[in-house]
Amino acid sequence: MKLALGAASIVTLGAASSAEAAKPKTPFQLEPTYIPIANSSEQFPVRRIYCIGRNYAAHAREMGSDLTREPPFFFQKPTDAIQFVAPNKIVDHPYPTLTKNYHYEVELVAALKTGGKNITIDKALDHVYGYALGLDMTRRDLQRFMGDQKKPWEIDKSFDHSAPIGPIFPVIKIGHQKSGSISLSVNGEVCQKANLNQMIWSVAEQIVKLSEANELFPGDIIYSGTPENLGPVVRGDIVRCMLDGFPDLVIKIV
Ligand code: MN
Repeated sequence: MKLALGAASIVTLGAASSAEAAKPKTPFQLEPTYIPIANSSEQFPVRRIYCIGRNYAAHAREMGSDLTREPPFFFQKPTDAIQFVAPNKIVDHPYPTLTKNYHYEVELVAALKTGGKNITIDKALDHVYGYALGLDMTRRDLQRFMGDQKKPWEIDKSFDHSAPIGPIFPVIKIGHQKSGSISLSVNGEVCQKANLNQMIWSVAEQIVKLSEANELFPGDIIYSGTPENLGPVVRGDIVRCMLDGFPDLVIKIV
């Protein structure tokens, strides 16, 4: 009987209109990930989350030419690692399992509206829809442990809620974010502080390099790296992220 039913349903599918056929039935629904767009009812659909590795070296620019730069490296977080943090609110952020050394990394995030392969530097910023303030939360002890063993970073970077982020501000409203103070405080004490113009690889250069490795698409977002002075948080801490022209992003570790 089951075989007969299966055969019947295949016939039915085959007879369906092409529009219906294009949308296969699924046993359950998945929720797409969105980031609210500031001062708008629209939301930004997230495709992939790319992150660049260490990208601020306080002395790099003053010490010498670009020839001293090592190639950038990237990793990804799962799209549903996004935790939206509404402006002017203190949002609870769960202390994750498996770590005893949980670190903050405040970062500018670029959100793409278009993509491509082998994007050129002169066109790179044309692909940016907008910018947000974000946190690349990290299980630092596991990062070191995995690094020592030459194993992947997955467990220390790509876990649930590891990508808190504020609303996206469109470029047409705020322009490109090439300079400006970016900082982070814990319980009111400033821990990280730098200027966006101190990035080793600019957002435009990151887009160029990423597009050599992967075709980029609308909905891709790029965490553009964190300044020095990382540190741990514990339950009860209030982490405040600040970026010139943006509302603060504030989480409470719970
Ligand atoms: Mn980071």
